[in-house]
Amino acid sequence: MFIDFSVFFVSRYISEVNQNKVRQRANFLCEYCHASEQWQYVPFTVDHVIPLSKGGANVLENLALACFHCNRRKSDKIKAFDEQSSSEIPLFNPRTESWQEHFIWSTDTLSIIGLTPLGRATVTALKLNRARIIDIRAADREIGRHPPANDPIQRHESQPSL
Ligand SMILES: [Zn+2]
Repeated sequence: MFIDFSVFFVSRYISEVNQNKVRQRANFLCEYCHASEQWQYVPFTVDHVIPLSKGGANVLENLALACFHCNRRKSDKIKAFDEQSSSEIPLFNPRTESWQEHFIWSTDTLSIIGLTPLGRATVTALKLNRARIIDIRAADREIGRHPPANDPIQRHESQPSL
């Protein structure tokens, strides 16, 4: 049986022009964990928000800048489990939802707190507060690279109201 693999390669291809548009639109931040690409050793990846395998299109409206770890964690997931509401919730979609609406930095700015079921499920599924990234945020905070300007920060250590 003949399989034309070029179809797969062509459909996944993202031009350099579009990759740059994705980077600029994201302000060079991973659109999930808000790490800045500016200080990374390796360039960030371009993520298909809705994976191609789940019917997502290879267009700017379905692309997001994602650090290697968020992209790998996300894989082809589109939903995740939220313990608090005991239900499957769609993962955060950077194209249709605003980060500020679903996430806030903890008072010490080291952890991302999910404000909504979607935010909480995404924090858990993508491990947005893994130990290594918290160490990096702490080091970056010391030299004024963290948190990103304009990101919301929780004023008190109390739990967010639901
Ligand atoms: Zn990330």
